[in-house]
Amino acid sequence: MRAKTLRLLTILSTLLVTLITAIQLYWLNTTYNYERKQFNIAITRVIKSTLINFNLLNNQDFSFEKNIQLPAPDYYIVPVSHLPNFDSVKNFVTREFFEFNILTDCELLFYNAGHNKYETGFYIDVSDQYKFSAKNNFPGFNRAYHYLGFYFPHREHYILQHMLKWIISSFLLLMVLIGFGISVFYFYRQQFLNETQKDFVNNFSHEFKTPLAVMKIAAEVLSRPSITEQPQKLHNYTEIINTQVTHLQKQLNRMLMVAYTDNHKLKPEKEKFNANELLEITIHNMLPLAEQKNGKIIFENRTADAFIHADKSYILTAIANLLENAVKYSVKPEISVSTYIEGNEFCIRVADKGLGIEKVHHKKIFKKFYRVTEGDIHPSKGFGLGLNFVKKIIDAHRGKILLKSRKGFGSTFIIKLPVT
Ligand code: ADP
Repeated sequence: MRAKTLRLLTILSTLLVTLITAIQLYWLNTTYNYERKQFNIAITRVIKSTLINFNLLNNQDFSFEKNIQLPAPDYYIVPVSHLPNFDSVKNFVTREFFEFNILTDCELLFYNAGHNKYETGFYIDVSDQYKFSAKNNFPGFNRAYHYLGFYFPHREHYILQHMLKWIISSFLLLMVLIGFGISVFYFYRQQFLNETQKDFVNNFSHEFKTPLAVMKIAAEVLSRPSITEQPQKLHNYTEIINTQVTHLQKQLNRMLMVAYTDNHKLKPEKEKFNANELLEITIHNMLPLAEQKNGKIIFENRTADAFIHADKSYILTAIANLLENAVKYSVKPEISVSTYIEGNEFCIRVADKGLGIEKVHHKKIFKKFYRVTEGDIHPSKGFGLGLNFVKKIIDAHRGKILLKSRKGFGSTFIIKLPVT
């Protein structure tokens, strides 16, 4: 599976998980509203039958909206024509609560408009679950008429308890979704590693096959007895083998170095040296490579104060890797190098006008084995280890490496080292 398909799959899965979570939350909210409504319906029935039974109705046309007020969220009051016998009402209401399945506790209050206060109150706990003794702290709602008050201190809790199975199932579903999300993430990461590993094996065989084939042919020529009579040919073929061996050694060293730095921290052996001089040498060594492609490397600007405290050989490797890439990923290399000081940092800038790198790859490009591919093809050979090693070197110096690049317009790498 290619990276693009994988990314699409991950995005789709994330969207799906978000959608399912949103639907689940919507249903929970709907259920909560439904349970509240059911509670209101049940309490209306209790109140209505109480009023009818004790002849307390002010008007015959009774409904929740018209007769019942909610001065506070858990407090229902209903006007009555007169105050009835308190104990009888209490017993009746208790029975009705059982009848209509209102199994939470309630403070039943009788408000006397003439005295402007609650005449009395009863605590009814049909569930035996709660302990409530706030009768004296009870908020007073003054009215110009007598009324019965029903205060449900644990109404929310009661409704949520009713929804418990929904809440638990939603929670379980959420856990499953999170599990699913984590699996997708690990699957994506595993696939990404598989892909890069597969690419690495492909690159590895390509990189080693050609030099080995060339060396085999050269060795065959050298094994002919007549070769001793052709000293120039002998020299040429020996040179070919030499070049190929050097190339293979370089690649192998790079791989060993990256493998080593996976398990060990790079320990720079710092010394004070002139970075401009080091750059000049590196550019000089790289120039033939650029000239092979009719290109050039210029040391454009250099800071006067170029003494830095760093590991000379690691910094050389980092710059050489950047220059090598700049040549490799340009058709006709036009590379410029600069050094400058910015704040407390010494900066080395390597800019080319080559193929450039799309923004999506900018962060990943420093990862091990990562290479920018177009479909299944790559414009140039390599292992995807160069930039990873550069990053490790710069990290070991507590520095930064920045990339500015646009596909088709070239790339600029800036190394920033702290001046100590
Ligand atoms: P390699 O060059 O061996 O593939 P690197 O780690 O050096 O590995 O680079 C990783 C990838 O970054 C390369 O495969 C290439 O696609 C891209 N890259 C690096 N430097 C440049 C550059 N100067 N211009 C364009 N692409 C680059």
